[in-house]
Amino acid sequence: MPTRWLFADQLGPHFLDEPDQPVLLIESRAAFGRRPVHRRRAHLVLSALRHRAAELGDQALFVQAAGYREALGRVDRKLGDGLTVCGPTTWAADRFVRGLPQVTVLPSRGFATSAEEFAAWAAGRGRRRLLLEDFYREARVRLRVLMDGDEPAGGRWNFDHENREPPPEGGLNCGPPKPPAEDDIDREVRRDLDAWEKAGEVRFTGQDGPREFPVTREEALTALRAFVRDRLPAFGPHQDAMLAADPVLAHSHLSPALNLGLLDPLECVRAAEQAYRAGDAPVASVEGFIRQIIGWRDYVWHLYWHFGEDYRHHNRLRARRTLPDWFTDLNADAVQARCLSDGLAQVREHGYAHHIIRLMVLGNYALQRGWNPAEVTEWFHTNFVDGYDWVMVPNVVGMSQHADGGLMATKPYAGGGAYINRMSDYCGDCQYRPSVRLGPQACPFTAGYWAFIDQNADRFTANPRMSRQVQGAARLKDLDEVVAQEQSRGSSPP
Ligand SMILES: Cc1cc2nc3c(=O)[nH]c(=O)nc-3n(C[C@H](O)[C@H](O)[C@H](O)COP(=O)(O)OP(=O)(O)OC[C@H]3O[C@@H](n4cnc5c(N)ncnc54)[C@H](O)[C@@H]3O)c2cc1C
Ligand code: SF4
Repeated sequence: MPTRWLFADQLGPHFLDEPDQPVLLIESRAAFGRRPVHRRRAHLVLSALRHRAAELGDQALFVQAAGYREALGRVDRKLGDGLTVCGPTTWAADRFVRGLPQVTVLPSRGFATSAEEFAAWAAGRGRRRLLLEDFYREARVRLRVLMDGDEPAGGRWNFDHENREPPPEGGLNCGPPKPPAEDDIDREVRRDLDAWEKAGEVRFTGQDGPREFPVTREEALTALRAFVRDRLPAFGPHQDAMLAADPVLAHSHLSPALNLGLLDPLECVRAAEQAYRAGDAPVASVEGFIRQIIGWRDYVWHLYWHFGEDYRHHNRLRARRTLPDWFTDLNADAVQARCLSDGLAQVREHGYAHHIIRLMVLGNYALQRGWNPAEVTEWFHTNFVDGYDWVMVPNVVGMSQHADGGLMATKPYAGGGAYINRMSDYCGDCQYRPSVRLGPQACPFTAGYWAFIDQNADRFTANPRMSRQVQGAARLKDLDEVVAQEQSRGSSPP
């Protein structure tokens, strides 16, 4: 049987053809040296790879090398029946493995919809634009997920309307995820990372701390079970809510385990559906979660390939400002705006923030300030424990920064303080007021929103979903002063 080369994001059993298939694992130092990386992300990836190597024992050739080519050179003669690899997750890695004569590249795994199924769906759209909702419904039917015969369970495809509730008074009280226990491999990883940093071979962002996410299959299954039991029932209604004292709320915290390949997306979906069928979780929550996995996660994966390698360079809003140091340094303490300071602190301390903090706080601020989308993508990639090229590029370039001119989302995800105020408890203790746009108490999100609309008025007038906002900005008597105020804020921390 050919040896299966597993990349560090292909660590689950579903990347092997047989449980006893010979395996090649490569720990490449170059992968860490290329760009700064959040300390917790480096730890997680290295720990997961080394745990897999330890688990497989003699079944795996585990090579620690400066780079992939060197490692392959070292093992070449030990690979009896050849080497296969499941399609890797970046354009660069895909090109690399396809250029290696000794490697056979198989279709990718770890997603619910295959490349062929997506291509057929996209081709069937004809001239209609690609839409998540349609992709998701087709996937539900094809995969027989949350269906009662030919009808969606609960009688509806979409419970988004119920799933946009502000945070409840007193919080959700479902308890934060329990971190896994560290072991000797974690301690060895920590020692190595310290040594590499000291030697100047790697640069870290963020703060180190006890590991918070799974690195083995067993830990990942435990985390999945705990989510389904403790948080899934509350996942739906408060999906978009933000609470200062409860950064995870009912979110699954599963993206790192999914992206390391430790969990198969369909097993997560089936576990959630089972909770619904057993009467343990309401349909709105289960549908909301399933939509994230076989809807958004798969959709983003396929768009990464569908839009092509140059998609990352799109900059249709001509946003050219460079990211300020306080943002790249994750200097939350320099920021007075409470929502932004808290979002940055979450990234610094955990390498994680839930979707709405990413989209409507961190990404929204970058969008309003005209920061270069390629730099913003790099920032997210560097600083998140679940950051991988395939998922960052569409989420940042398309969804968050609207740099693709609307290929992915019909309107920019820009919002003022009123949205953040409705969906969070941040504004009460903030020195700014969400309803104020001029003067010392002007909320940087509210004022920034109008300045952003004004800056892009010519582009947005032609967009039926944005023209009302452009007219709204034009009606503001103090628009010129608001724009001047935000220009003078410059790149200072708000
Ligand atoms: C600017 C920006 C950057 C992002 N960067 C990443 C990233 O680097 N890695 C990443 O996995 N997700 C990314 N996301 C998507 C999403 O925010 C995270 O998947 C989610 O917050 C992870 O937390 P969770 O596991 O608690 O998610 P939950 O809210 O519990 O959702 C369940 C799962 O659905 C999937 N999912 C949900 N939304 C998306 C989405 N838009 N794209 C892909 N998968 C999705 C994830 O696998 C997630 O674990 C980004 C979103 C934005 C707006
Ligand atoms: S007032 Fe504005 S800056 Fe302050 S927390 Fe609310 S939205 Fe954020």
